Amino acid sequence: MFMLEYDVVVVGGGPAGCMAAKYAAKEGASTLIVEEDAEIGVPVQCAGLISKRAVEESEISDSKSFINCEIKGAVVHSHSYELRVESPDKRAFAIRRDIFDKELAKEAQKEGAEINLGSKVKSVKKREGETKLTITIATATANGEKEIRASAVIGADGVKSAVAKMAGLNVAKNYLNCVQIEGEYEIDDAFAEIFVGKNIAPGFFAWAIPLGAENIARIGLCIDKRFSPHPNPLLFLKRNLAEHPVIAKKYKGTSSNITAGTIPIPVGVGTGAGLRGQGRGQTVRIDKETGIMLVGDAAAQVKPITGGGVYYGMKCGKIAGETAAKACLTGDMKVLSSYERRWQKEIGKEIAFGLKVHRLRCVISDKDFDTIFHTLSQEKVLQHIKREGDMDYPSVVFREFLKHPRLFKLMTRNILKYLYTK
Ligand SMILES: Cc1cc2nc3c(=O)[nH]c(=O)nc-3n(C[C@H](O)[C@H](O)[C@H](O)COP(=O)(O)OP(=O)(O)OC[C@H]3O[C@@H](n4cnc5c(N)ncnc54)[C@H](O)[C@@H]3O)c2cc1C
Repeated sequence: MFMLEYDVVVVGGGPAGCMAAKYAAKEGASTLIVEEDAEIGVPVQCAGLISKRAVEESEISDSKSFINCEIKGAVVHSHSYELRVESPDKRAFAIRRDIFDKELAKEAQKEGAEINLGSKVKSVKKREGETKLTITIATATANGEKEIRASAVIGADGVKSAVAKMAGLNVAKNYLNCVQIEGEYEIDDAFAEIFVGKNIAPGFFAWAIPLGAENIARIGLCIDKRFSPHPNPLLFLKRNLAEHPVIAKKYKGTSSNITAGTIPIPVGVGTGAGLRGQGRGQTVRIDKETGIMLVGDAAAQVKPITGGGVYYGMKCGKIAGETAAKACLTGDMKVLSSYERRWQKEIGKEIAFGLKVHRLRCVISDKDFDTIFHTLSQEKVLQHIKREGDMDYPSVVFREFLKHPRLFKLMTRNILKYLYTK
């Protein structure tokens, strides 16, 4: 039977998958993206806040097409304090993810990658006696199922990655449960709002992100259900909209684009849990002449402090695509093992540090949050945040906080509390 063959098949057409496909094709590998949804970028499950650096990383020339507005800083609220942080040069943007993802897909196509939409990957298998991987795809058209062969498969299929399960790549992760609406909300167009507190968003934070249009914002939150009295984030969102002293006052009662989603919080990244044994890491599996890799949410390449995964997904996507192409074109699949080393080198330490901060955040009391905010509001510390604050690499600022004797003492107490809770 005639069967289509590619060097690289990428499962999932999100930011990580499109970037991986773009770089595999750019390096000369025949590349196919298989996406289960009928349209790239839809449905959207994202607050759409990304840094200027991430916009640059996307390499999309017409950024006007997907940017809602520029964000100059954030107003962060604890129970009794509010901290306003403005960064003159480290700007961020609220974006439309549906358009952003479509643009990324177009860029991949320009480099020669093909895209199959409405096609769900059901299995990835190495059949007895065959040299390539067989990918079985369910499609809405024709007779409903087809098979494709490839030397390398990149699983960019998001937080619930089926490719990871099929390949036995157990990326250790916890999950945040999230919910978000778009609604009428009185907001300064240039500032995102963040809210922390045990009853507001246990284990994480709530947000309101301006969209540039007259008083419309994305209002949402995530919770870490291990530290929440209730696993449903919608309960907290409804309460915030109705009762939170700031959110309820600013929210005008209309809502649209309700979305729920999950964010993976990586466990064990950057801690030396890299390649375990020959040819098998957390995100790479090599079987002689074939290989499977994971990228983006599927590999839990997410910032544990903010939950942002778009920038890291694109960054790691480039490495995955390049490496897969190199392995396929040289016929040396062992090359794939360099993928895990390379991405861990880029972001492993940042993720590992972020994970520690996330763990502490889960046990910090509202009173301690107030102490932290009060201390940070002192001019010297605030200046440091303004100068060094970086949403893609937040560890720089957090490390500096710990030099403050009061915060060091508070954090030490909370480390003990976390260990005790655990
Ligand atoms: C509420 C919420 C708010 C967020 N806000 C932000 C934010 O402000 N900034 C930020 O940087 N990040 C944010 N994130 C995280 C961000 O959305 C993800 O990190 C990012 O989308 C990951 O990109 P990805 O390409 O790895 O996966 P995805 O974007 O999830 O793409 C995976 C793709 O794979 C497809 N797929 C899945 N299974 C299959 C299959 N079997 N066959 C074929 N296709 C398949 C899916 O349809 C999907 O298109 C947020 C997440 C949530 C839930």
